[in-house]
Amino acid sequence: MEKKKQQFETIAIRTQAERSEHREHSVPIFATSSFVFDDAEQARALFADEQPGNIYTRFSNPNNDEFIEKLCLLEGTEDGIATASGMAAMFSSMAAFLRSGDHIVVSRSVFGSTHQIVTQLLPRWGIEYTYMDSSASPEDWKAAIREKTKLFFLETPSNPALDLIDIKALAEICNEAGIILNVDNCFATPYLQNPAKLGAHIITHSATKFIDGQGRTIGGAILGSKELIKEVRFFARHTGPAMSPFNGWILSKSLETLAVRMDRHCENALKIAISLEENPAIAHVKYPFLPSHPQYELAKEQMRQGGGIVTFELKGGLEKGRAFLDALKMISITANLGDSRSIATHPASTTHSKLTAQEREAVGITDGLIRISAGLEHVDDILEDILQAIGKS
Ligand SMILES: *Cc1c(COP(=O)(O)O)cnc(C)c1O
Repeated sequence: MEKKKQQFETIAIRTQAERSEHREHSVPIFATSSFVFDDAEQARALFADEQPGNIYTRFSNPNNDEFIEKLCLLEGTEDGIATASGMAAMFSSMAAFLRSGDHIVVSRSVFGSTHQIVTQLLPRWGIEYTYMDSSASPEDWKAAIREKTKLFFLETPSNPALDLIDIKALAEICNEAGIILNVDNCFATPYLQNPAKLGAHIITHSATKFIDGQGRTIGGAILGSKELIKEVRFFARHTGPAMSPFNGWILSKSLETLAVRMDRHCENALKIAISLEENPAIAHVKYPFLPSHPQYELAKEQMRQGGGIVTFELKGGLEKGRAFLDALKMISITANLGDSRSIATHPASTTHSKLTAQEREAVGITDGLIRISAGLEHVDDILEDILQAIGKS
């Protein structure tokens, strides 16, 4: 059957590296740094890009290629590159296109290390940025364009505020202006949102989160058209942010279960959100698929379900937030998300504590904000832990 016509689950399971002479059912790990040439002529032709094939694992490897082939089919892109981490993907997908003097427009509430790249590293090479608040309209983004603007970069839903950005509207603006739209699709995964189908040009992922799904590995991906990925490939091939074949193997296997896992993550998150909305100790709950979310309509339009992350505001601020974490019995306190184990974080005292109160406010992080990454435990047990911790905090 033609791959493109298959459903998400089937593509994620049945896209496999070619079977070897050993007739294995499950794809093995190609733990090899290089690949053997049949003869001098083949070596020449491969290096000259005259024929496709593996040369060296920094360039390509069957496990990483399988992972990327699946992601391309799932996201609706032509080509892609697997990277050692999400941050390697974020950095390479920007650096490959930027020159000294260029300008980028970025959504303000990006992942912490992305913020450091944009505000600390890129300026060292003469690349300027403009941050857009979550309240910015597509017209505001358009107004930020300068002569040297090369790239728009955004995350939607944002972390941890869960604000949404209209990908389709920004894609139209980018197409008109000849600007690359780069969307970090880590929170939604290709199962819930396909930015390429809404017009985005580059899709970036931290595969460490929901794609791995069990908190075992670090990985990332950059996806896009053949033409754009060619530039990223040149950059990646020579600077070396390559994924390890072992991680490529794990992450490709992980994609096999992404759909069923995301269904349950979303179901649990929605149940938690609905239950907490009625709790008197909570000021407000935010979840993209709650009708009370200010961008509920946009969420329904560009996402298939609301995702695995819920946030809520505890009445009582910073101290209450910390006390809540200390009172948890089962839910993990750790810096990851998208794990089978539920995770709670208090951004104001941890991930975003280095920001000033004003900066935190600008990205929607209030003192009592708690972020829950809904895991795959039974939702009754997750809720019971949250409720008893609220009671004690
Ligand atoms: C975690 C994360 C990253 C960074 O990914 P790593 O795999 O940790 O390098 C980038 N963007 C988002 C939205 C993330 O959640």
